[in-house]
Amino acid sequence: MTNRPTLDYGIIAHGGAGSFLPESTAEISKRKRVLATSAETGYRLLARKGGSSADAVEEAIRVLEDSGVFNAGSGSSLSLEGTVSADASIMTGDLSAGAIGNVSISKNPISLARKVMDESDHVLLVGDGDLLKFCKAIGYNVHQLCPSAKRLRQYNKHLSAMKKGTVRAWPRNYKLLKKYLKSGLVRPPDQGDTVGAVAIDSESNVCAGVSTGGRWLKLPGRVGDSALIGAGIYADNLSGAASATGAGEEIIRVSLCKSVCDFMRIGVDAQSACDAAIEILTNRRGGGSGGVIAVDKYGRFGASRNTEMLQRAFRFKSMNKTHVAVLPSEEDPIRKTPYLGDPRLRF
Ligand code: ASP
Repeated sequence: MTNRPTLDYGIIAHGGAGSFLPESTAEISKRKRVLATSAETGYRLLARKGGSSADAVEEAIRVLEDSGVFNAGSGSSLSLEGTVSADASIMTGDLSAGAIGNVSISKNPISLARKVMDESDHVLLVGDGDLLKFCKAIGYNVHQLCPSAKRLRQYNKHLSAMKKGTVRAWPRNYKLLKKYLKSGLVRPPDQGDTVGAVAIDSESNVCAGVSTGGRWLKLPGRVGDSALIGAGIYADNLSGAASATGAGEEIIRVSLCKSVCDFMRIGVDAQSACDAAIEILTNRRGGGSGGVIAVDKYGRFGASRNTEMLQRAFRFKSMNKTHVAVLPSEEDPIRKTPYLGDPRLRF
């Protein structure tokens, strides 16, 4: 496929959407630092001659996974049983894609997803047992993901609240959960902190990626949107790339990232496409359910959410420094006018 050269290559990294606000200014600064490092790591790769959007997205996400600050890699949240299991996926604009679901044997799940894309004929592999065989066959170093001390403390807190009988979410899991635990339930926190990135390189090739430990207190065996092409990510050089975060069950139901890309395909810019897709998510599944970042095939970027916050960092060629936003009040340089709705996208 011949691609139009892009004038503005660049990357957006995200650190999740949710209602959780970091408690201290030190915590906010740390998140900003890690997000900036992530976007700058990806950007440096893009700025090199021949630097691909796939390398930029993978490396940017590895920085976030390794930080322990976000809900991915070493910072992954825990399931109801206190175990870690990751979902991750990556997709490039030629429709190549790789994903893993419910896996705890990789320190950097995004890299294992990339191996599925690069080294197999499949799109999605799930479960540690079978992934172990795949890793062995391709010589990939396995690494058991263990809960960090911080995540264990958070888990114990949620579990003891659960035992007090606070029931506010996962309502239909109630009966099932009782079988896992002898007493009450707790509302899993709205905290997101999943990580992801989208990028476009100087050849106009786009890429999207995402990596997560999933939602707190999920049932063991649960696979969320982050492993599913079309829901958690999508990329197509004919439209652009998108990466989602939020309540995976709702994101799956509206195929959030495919919607964003379909809108960009008919000529809607990345920001309006994100706004329109989030409007659908809100109208059909309620507010507080998610956020999405995107880049269209012309190198225009967008980010939108119906949650209090969507932690994100942008770096592209036309900017002279990295823009980072963590607090709800922090706006993006690209949002020039409020979204008023696009009649073409009403349904
Ligand atoms: N979407 C992720 C999931 O449902 C969670 C998140 O983005 O915070 O697994």
